[in-house]
Amino acid sequence: MPFKTLRLIQPLLSAVHSEGYTIPTAIQQEAIPHVLEGRDLLGCAQTGTGKTAAFALPILQRLHGHATIPKSSGHAGAASHSRPIRALILTPTRELAAQIGESFRVYGQHMGLRHTVIFGGVKQGPQTHALHRGVDILVATPGRLLDLLNQRLLSLRDVEIFVLDEADRMLDMGFIHDIRRVIAQLPARRQTLMFSATMPGEIRALAETILQKPVQVKVAAESPAADTVKQALYFVDPQSKPALLEHLLQDPQITRALVFTRTKHGADKVVRRLAHAAIVAEAMHSNKSQNTRLRALANFKAGKTRVLVASDIAARGLDVDNISHVFNYDLPNVAETYVNRIGRTGRAGARGQAISFCSEEQRDDLREIERLLGKAIPVLHHSIKTAAPVIAEGGLHPRQVSARTGQAAHAAHKPATPQQQKDDFWRSRRKHSTRGWAKPRFTRRGR
Ligand code: AMP
Repeated sequence: MPFKTLRLIQPLLSAVHSEGYTIPTAIQQEAIPHVLEGRDLLGCAQTGTGKTAAFALPILQRLHGHATIPKSSGHAGAASHSRPIRALILTPTRELAAQIGESFRVYGQHMGLRHTVIFGGVKQGPQTHALHRGVDILVATPGRLLDLLNQRLLSLRDVEIFVLDEADRMLDMGFIHDIRRVIAQLPARRQTLMFSATMPGEIRALAETILQKPVQVKVAAESPAADTVKQALYFVDPQSKPALLEHLLQDPQITRALVFTRTKHGADKVVRRLAHAAIVAEAMHSNKSQNTRLRALANFKAGKTRVLVASDIAARGLDVDNISHVFNYDLPNVAETYVNRIGRTGRAGARGQAISFCSEEQRDDLREIERLLGKAIPVLHHSIKTAAPVIAEGGLHPRQVSARTGQAAHAAHKPATPQQQKDDFWRSRRKHSTRGWAKPRFTRRGR
């Protein structure tokens, strides 16, 4: 089904064509016709499914051709804008906001509509300046938007289309009150589109209050990346993770790797450790300044940095093409997060690999993940005694590695039996623990 069957106008067809898109993704096929008709929509879809274009393309089309009526006076004390804001996209993170803004730029390149992006952590001056010049489409994170609304630097009273993106993550991040404050400033008569990767009860409850007779669209929420992402798992002692990662990253097939840690401190530690091994890596998490984060992202996108080490929130919605490998250096304790993380690779039909490190006490987390996936993740044999990960399947290099020295050696290609993995794990604990293996060094993490 080509794009033109979606009844998109030529400027949009040209833009998607020059982006190299040939067929709409499932969410685009399902959502675009309804959004074009002006219907409210509840979309259950992850990032990586093409959901940004699913709302951005029809929004651009709906705003196009309707001449904006210039306002001669300001809005009841709010700043006067010659072009009122007609579409608002609310999204949880700065990175996601920047990416959505970039999508509007690309898809709207042949149209005269203006957009801008506002988020916290940077000076507000350039943002208010852009708002003052007038924008049709505003992409914003809740905190900075409310800040500017409170300063009466913008008005939402002309918004025709409102998008609430990543609603579940918004709630996780505690934005519910901010969202309600923003919604209170929107006109009651509007089109609303709400997207969420998961649909727990509170998201449905929120949807009921903000959507009117919505069309519901659900796209492969269970395991979106399953077909294009090859998954693998190592059981590994926490102490041996750095050496294992360092070793695996010697593989030249790993051209662009995203490494997830649970903590910001953990991310910094990984970067320092890799630096010792002359592996160029940068960390991206919320303790870093906005400019540092954007620079790290730009370096990663440009291929200057091969490895980006990130926390979940920082990486949410990260849209970087051709990430060859995602490493779960720490397995997440929320199963959906795993699916979200591995969705950073294998995007838009490309192939990718997701490699996870699981320590003994994370087996419960692993079980939850496998339950969500509906299948077991293939295990790669990691013989820590001889410090040898043996590849059971997947395109990785069959090597052995010394967990202590990181030295590679050749190994037999045979998958580990579950008992072998367990034995290896505990053997390595005895060997490397300075406090004795009966007294585990690592602590149980809260779930
Ligand atoms: P999203 O889920 O919006 O973050 O999009 C994921 C990735 O898919 C982005 O890199 C888009 O540029 C890309 N993409 C979106 N729609 C299509 C399409 N129809 N064909 C190919 N790639 C697409």
